Amino acid sequence: MRREMTAELMRRIERSLREFPELSNQTITIGVNRSAALHGSAEARNMTIRVNPRLKGGVTYATIGHELTHLLQKPGLGIVPYGEEQCDIWTLARSDLFLDDRPFYLCSHLWKKKNWPAHANAVRSLCVEAIRVRQTNRQYKVWLEQAIEKLIQG
Ligand SMILES: [Zn+2]
Repeated sequence: MRREMTAELMRRIERSLREFPELSNQTITIGVNRSAALHGSAEARNMTIRVNPRLKGGVTYATIGHELTHLLQKPGLGIVPYGEEQCDIWTLARSDLFLDDRPFYLCSHLWKKKNWPAHANAVRSLCVEAIRVRQTNRQYKVWLEQAIEKLIQG
């Protein structure tokens, strides 16, 4: 990793970690991922994330946030529900820092590089709301997907 860990990437990871107080007493290993298709990956069991510094445009906060949220899922801390879509919902809800790229799983068919910035803040608010809805409604993901579709249709 050392060669590819630039000061800028390290700064981004440290900034992202500040949004995750739950991880403050964990030792987290950061690695690189060289798969052309993958932005990042996480191994919650070993508190390890890998990011791909070779992608065009560099490593986004959205990617770092997504991979750090995986550490909160099982077999990590287990305080965020398991699953990729859930990972996106809890990442977006956590901080607007992580809005700098579209989510990979949550309604991914709707997002293009161009339209995401216009909807990012509203989608984030809906994710916050969905986490509240989940307390009483197990269909919160369906609720959220429908709310997002409605938002896009204007
Ligand atoms: Zn993921």
